Amino acid sequence: MEASADTVWTQPFTYEDLHRGGSYDLQNIIARFNPNAEKQILLGAHWDTRPWSDKESDIDNQDKPIIGANDGASGVAVLLEIARVLKTNPTETGVTIVFFDGEDLGMSGENRSYAQGSQYFAKNLPIPKPDHAIILDMVGDKHLHLPIERLSYRHAPRLAREIWKLANRLNLPAFDQSLGYSIFDDHVPLWEFAEIPAIDIIDFDYPHKFANYWHTQEDTPEKCSPASLEQVGTLLTHHIYGIE
Ligand SMILES: [Zn+2]
Repeated sequence: MEASADTVWTQPFTYEDLHRGGSYDLQNIIARFNPNAEKQILLGAHWDTRPWSDKESDIDNQDKPIIGANDGASGVAVLLEIARVLKTNPTETGVTIVFFDGEDLGMSGENRSYAQGSQYFAKNLPIPKPDHAIILDMVGDKHLHLPIERLSYRHAPRLAREIWKLANRLNLPAFDQSLGYSIFDDHVPLWEFAEIPAIDIIDFDYPHKFANYWHTQEDTPEKCSPASLEQVGTLLTHHIYGIE
């Protein structure tokens, strides 16, 4: 990010795991482009990967960390490429890219134990409040299917509609104009603690409704596709540059 952004810094914080015990030194990575522009948007993805694969059917594998090709790396990959595009094609819009840490340290059924980095970021906002935020998570699936995430639609309906309509105009087949699951992701703390209209672009059916590589040893690069990343990147670049 130092090679492309105007400013980059890290936001360190500590997370105490009250369920499993232990303390983690974590850091969000924050990179800003055109920070003095009037219009400001935030793009985010989590850069940590889950240290356990607790959805593994093989119990001997449940203590192994996941590779996280999709759950973690896919969103980061799209944003790294957008950073390169922003460097070579300066925009009138200000963009802050945040890589959140500690998204995936949570306990099943306890939403608050997830999304540590975005909770800390939103409670200790280190930048002026952006106009809106778009979070990417699990956008690399070869069989990419992106319905409108339900909490996004509830809390930022205008932004959700605008983004999915743009995807429709751009003929991006992964985007589905219907409502999908509710997912507690990094967008939730952003509107909850900082009142930033925020949406999540996520495909939770990985690879499809009848199987899920999520939080298993199967979350590996060959399950993902550059064409899927491209659809999401195309959408975001059109949004950032205001191309309809
Ligand atoms: Zn995860």
